[in-house]
Amino acid sequence: MAQNAAKRVLRIGGMSCASCAAAVEKALESVPGVGDAVVNFATEKAVVTYDPSKVSEEALERAVHDAGYDYLGVEDEGAGHTDDFQEKLRISRNRMIWAWALTLPVMAVMVPDMLFGAHLFSMKAMKWIMLIGSAPVVFIVGFPTLKTAWSSVRHRAPTMDVLISLGMLAALSTGVLVFFLPVGNYSAVAAMILAFHLTGRYIEAQARGRASSAIRKLMDLEPEDAVLLVNGVETKVPLSSVKVGDLMLVRPGQRIPTDGRVVHGESSVDESMATGESMPVHKTVGSEVIGASINLDGVLQVEATRVGRDTFLAQVVKLVEEAQGTKVPIQAFADKVTRGFVPVVLVLSSLTFVVWLVSPPFLLGLLERAQTLLPWVNPGASPLTLAILASVSVLVIACPCALGLATPTALVVSSGMGAERGILIRSGEAIQTLRDVKAMVFDKTGTLTYGKPEVTDVINLGTLSEGEALRLTALAEQGSEHPLAQRLFAYAASRLGNVTGQVDEFRSTPGKGVEAVLDGGRRVVVGRPGFLQEKGISGESVQEAVTKVKDLALSGKTVILSAVDGQVALAVAFLDTLKPEAQKVLRALKEMGIEPVMLTGDNERTARAIAEEAGITRFVAELLPEDKVTAIRALQDEFGTVAMVGDGINDAPSLVQANVGIAIGTGTDIAIESSDVTVVRGELSSIVEAVRLSRATFRKIKQNLFWALFYNVVAIPLAVLGLLHPIIAESAMALSSVTVVTNANLLRREKIRFE
Ligand code: ADP
Ligand code: MG
Repeated sequence: MAQNAAKRVLRIGGMSCASCAAAVEKALESVPGVGDAVVNFATEKAVVTYDPSKVSEEALERAVHDAGYDYLGVEDEGAGHTDDFQEKLRISRNRMIWAWALTLPVMAVMVPDMLFGAHLFSMKAMKWIMLIGSAPVVFIVGFPTLKTAWSSVRHRAPTMDVLISLGMLAALSTGVLVFFLPVGNYSAVAAMILAFHLTGRYIEAQARGRASSAIRKLMDLEPEDAVLLVNGVETKVPLSSVKVGDLMLVRPGQRIPTDGRVVHGESSVDESMATGESMPVHKTVGSEVIGASINLDGVLQVEATRVGRDTFLAQVVKLVEEAQGTKVPIQAFADKVTRGFVPVVLVLSSLTFVVWLVSPPFLLGLLERAQTLLPWVNPGASPLTLAILASVSVLVIACPCALGLATPTALVVSSGMGAERGILIRSGEAIQTLRDVKAMVFDKTGTLTYGKPEVTDVINLGTLSEGEALRLTALAEQGSEHPLAQRLFAYAASRLGNVTGQVDEFRSTPGKGVEAVLDGGRRVVVGRPGFLQEKGISGESVQEAVTKVKDLALSGKTVILSAVDGQVALAVAFLDTLKPEAQKVLRALKEMGIEPVMLTGDNERTARAIAEEAGITRFVAELLPEDKVTAIRALQDEFGTVAMVGDGINDAPSLVQANVGIAIGTGTDIAIESSDVTVVRGELSSIVEAVRLSRATFRKIKQNLFWALFYNVVAIPLAVLGLLHPIIAESAMALSSVTVVTNANLLRREKIRFE
């Protein structure tokens, strides 16, 4: 399953509440071959992981349908999103308006009657007016609610809509009962329940829309068409017909249509949509550009390198959507509560009904005392009236929605905020873990430093001429991808004119060095001193060389040795500069209670010099790639939760071992599987922002969960005791989920930016 798992984002319709999301989840997971399904009610999407050889799209569609919901197809990046959302919002608003338009006249008749005993009509006429006025609201405007409620009952996964529907129907039934029994007439209350319910839903939908607006905005950034240069002739084509290799012309002020490489021209480009960095980036021939970024001042000719789903933007959107489809671990508890919620409330409401029918004296006594405070309480009403009032209140006040929305909306807002700043958080779990991080491990090369070492010193240590030693060393390094090797080769090539010779054998040992047989028999070993010794170069001569270059290492330079035919021949020193923001960032992390630790394969002296410069007190040097994993494990024992910051290419095992792997500065390539967080901009300050974002998000989640729980724990007992009027209950219910979603949106006010 794991090897050939497919992941799809499905759009689901007809979910009215968090308990619906749970039902869809259950349905999808019961399809054989589906590994995992996560439904986010806030975005109305399901992320399904499944084995494509066993599961067809139709099977998924059927499962969703059979559960009583709408399958709206597989998510396609881009097109149609905004319209879709606006359309839904429009429908939601229309329903609300209709509900009020029909309810207000009934209220106009009922309220004066109730408050001032002003009978505008005869008692008999009143009964008919109330019933005829309210029934259409419940049965016509309320039809979709009744329908989904019924379908959820049929699928034995009753949702929120069942509670609202039963509440409405019970209240409406009093309008019929008044003709036969001594009971208060609450049929207008039925209409009001729906009107309030739909109002709450509308505000909530709006707020949910705001929550995911960041990602929608991102998708809308793509320009609609591109200007192609074909044989020097400009042609305007729709973006969808641009292919890899096409030559695009981009004028100042235009958005670059898709990812590409500059082949002609020079300009500054505003990439803030991708990286959050407001400073324009200078682009010349050979520079990579991101689709949808803005060309500011020059004319560029850009060769398209990625189109459609492969573009940077499409990948970001996909990543964020997948992240939004995951769960924050703390939500597990809320999920458990929501799953059992509706049945429990149904039972509770029935019990309330029965108990109030009996009207035990202590409850009546309570009402009498409450009467002075709560004007709507009427202990004089008939037992049946009291029973209906209390049980309807229980039905409509119980709100699994607030619980279900508490975490997902915060996650949606937070991942959108991250994406705007070039911080891509892969999962809800990463957000929760990042907030707990006690130690943060940094790889030295390429993370704390630029990873672009410059050759500063070449010291001839053997009997060969320096030029010859350099040529052989560079030739040996030719096949290595290590940054040191590549710099060394470039350096030698420019100094010697070119590097010629024949490579007969070549072997590279990651984290140590290379060995090669050159020019038909000359054996060359290049790397760290220990590696030379391993390869049989006399320990004494290596030690002697190390002593000679000690001062270089002490000043923070990385020194490698090269031996030719068993004799140490050359020492080359490189200087890799610390990123300028490193000190500030590390200080900020310490202030946040996070201990920075540096890991490196470089030697102890160099490491100490760099660590001191950066302000790091803890570092571990001379590590082989596999030792880094062990070092992280040791730190986990010591600190608990440990994050690892690396470049994501040769640090993959460490990123995986750490509780949170943060890959930094990988340009336009963000598909790094081993990281939990990817930072698009190669700047360390994004890490502080990521931690701040995770902490702020988690705070919001906790607040939301607390309020949602607190609300139900307090409100339901009040309703059971008959202290709430159904209308108050319904408004409180509507308000509770609106509050939770609005609070999640307030996350945007938090200060995340670090400078
Ligand atoms: P870091 O942890 O700083 O990224 P690496 O694990 O990549 O460092 O390498 C550790 C050390 O091994 C380097 O500092 C260098 O001394 C040596 N080394 C690794 N690969 C090579 C190579 N191709 N040529 C020379 N030295 C190398
Ligand atoms: Mg490295």
